[in-house]
Amino acid sequence: MDRKLTKKKTNLKTQCVHAGELIDKVNGGSISPLYMATSYKFNGVKENQYPRYFNTPNQKALADKIATLENGETAIIFSSGMAAISTSLLSNLKSGDHVILQNDLYGGTRNFIKKEFPKFGIEFSFISGNSSKDFEIEIRKNTKVIYIETPSNPTLKIIDLESINDLAKSSNIITIIDNTFASPVNQNPIEFGIDIVIHSATKYLGGHSDISAGAIVSSEAMIRNIFTCAKNFGGNLSDYTVWLLERSMKTLYLRVKEQNNNALKIANFLENEMWIDKVYYPGLASHPNHELAKKQMKGFGGMLSFDLSPKIDCKKFLLGLELIKPTMSLAGIETTALSPKLTSHSLLTNKERFEQGINDQMVRLSAGIEDYEDLKDDIIQSIKKQT
Ligand SMILES: *Cc1c(COP(=O)(O)O)cnc(C)c1O
Repeated sequence: MDRKLTKKKTNLKTQCVHAGELIDKVNGGSISPLYMATSYKFNGVKENQYPRYFNTPNQKALADKIATLENGETAIIFSSGMAAISTSLLSNLKSGDHVILQNDLYGGTRNFIKKEFPKFGIEFSFISGNSSKDFEIEIRKNTKVIYIETPSNPTLKIIDLESINDLAKSSNIITIIDNTFASPVNQNPIEFGIDIVIHSATKYLGGHSDISAGAIVSSEAMIRNIFTCAKNFGGNLSDYTVWLLERSMKTLYLRVKEQNNNALKIANFLENEMWIDKVYYPGLASHPNHELAKKQMKGFGGMLSFDLSPKIDCKKFLLGLELIKPTMSLAGIETTALSPKLTSHSLLTNKERFEQGINDQMVRLSAGIEDYEDLKDDIIQSIKKQT
């Protein structure tokens, strides 16, 4: 039934449209049929089909698609990015184990670690640097996992995937990356040896700000282990939403390419404006990790941040935008902007924000697919309201 296209046969652009698709043998329709059944005929073998076992036809088809895009062997689809994150960590850690994480992680992930891990007796170290040396000095005898996010949120720091992999492999440590910000179009960490790739599919994979989902991509062996835990936690996604997500992903390549283009143009434009103090975008030559980004990314992504100069009021700037939406979340086809201090990182203390390089004048922008000139005009008109 499945028609998995391998990397050898086709390119990413084609895989976005076709990888994993189900063939409608009954009616000859050109899209994957949707199977909503929660009950399937007993098939006499071990693996019976059931939504919470992550093995209904649509779940398997979408898992194939995402695994193909990430060059992984297989995948599991979840009901949210956090379900994917919590399951990937808890399936690989037990009481007494230790995990090393970077400081500037997605807020929900940080919160999960800090609130839940002490209950299970799992040790953790947050590190503020982003070089593999910074990770190396934290390694203990009981370190089982290194967990990273690159580019990071909201300062767009880049971590060297190859050296993190070398470090981890030499110490028998499992590597997990949250690849949400890059998307499979811009970065494929498995090619650098990273063991487990996570996506909040709520972001680029869905891409229209109307789906909540998550995914884990890895080897067959790793996924088998994660699955044993996942079916107990029960974070599967409804087949209807699985089907919608497959539809959304057909345009993933086109969307992300255009978001990359817009983000680069906006970053270049902002860098030369006097009411901007600093621009954070890995595609700029001024970014401290620009060369590394060029080495390990195929595109620089649709996310950028910038610091408004002190004479501009950040909240007024956001509320003065007329086209760009001052909303939470990211990666939709519409351009959005937020103040990390007032929204995504508001739960951190001033000191914690400072340690992560987040200041009160910072704006994080998620580039959409609109016309660049219109986006630029909108930013300028909002600034003009204050100058
Ligand atoms: C949104 C997000 C998550 C969490 O995903 P949900 O789908 O909201 O659970 C995890 N990591 C990153 C980088 C995100 O942006």
